Amino acid sequence: MRKIVLAGNWKMHKTQAESLEFVQAFLPQLEPTPAERTVVLCVPFTNLGILAEKLKGTRVNLGAQNVHWQDQGAYTGEVSGPMLTEIPVQYVVIGHSERREYFGETDETVNLRLKAAQKHGLIPILCVGETEQQRVNGETESHIRSQLDRDLVGIDQSQLVIAYEPIWAIGTGKTCDSKEANRVIGLIRSQLSNQDVPIQYGGSVKPDNIDEIMAQSEIDGVLVGGASLDAPGFARIVNYSV
Ligand code: PGA
Repeated sequence: MRKIVLAGNWKMHKTQAESLEFVQAFLPQLEPTPAERTVVLCVPFTNLGILAEKLKGTRVNLGAQNVHWQDQGAYTGEVSGPMLTEIPVQYVVIGHSERREYFGETDETVNLRLKAAQKHGLIPILCVGETEQQRVNGETESHIRSQLDRDLVGIDQSQLVIAYEPIWAIGTGKTCDSKEANRVIGLIRSQLSNQDVPIQYGGSVKPDNIDEIMAQSEIDGVLVGGASLDAPGFARIVNYSV
């Protein structure tokens, strides 16, 4: 059976004090859900240390939002695999569309980062997805196929999560129709050699659409931005009912 991975991506939100407040409110609201549901909080680097302490012994895993491909070196502003695993961190988001769009990430650097994550035992959450223009032009499938072809060269698919995030649905309130997300995720799966890779949907996931999204047969979880900042809201998402 495929694992279900429910991940929050805080992006550049929350100070340490705010992240502690979140955890205090969030943990008591987590229902004892089935073991196949994995919960992850992907937080800013500055909050990893303090949250690692607070989440120890709970069922919430910790994730970073990027990792460099070198273990150390003259790479100002970057963070390496050994720095993350020491904390310890278990997951890392790689290739988010905001990284690709605003910070010059390419499929080549995404591939290097994925390799580095796996080398250090971090499970990468690889983000792929099309722009609105690509969708209008009928290029959704070819674009995602090309991203997967390049990003996954030399990657161990047994230690991987993929997030399908249509860029036009991120932070816009325009959720992709759950049946369409299910269709694209099926296409992504058909391109993988390992059929057990959990594939998430991401893009305007909220407490009021989670049940419908998770009812889709191909969707193995969600990557949640805005709605993961609110403890009761993200708890409702993690506690979704089928
Ligand atoms: P959103 O972001 O839930 O705020 O749309 C999703 C993401 O970027 O991972």
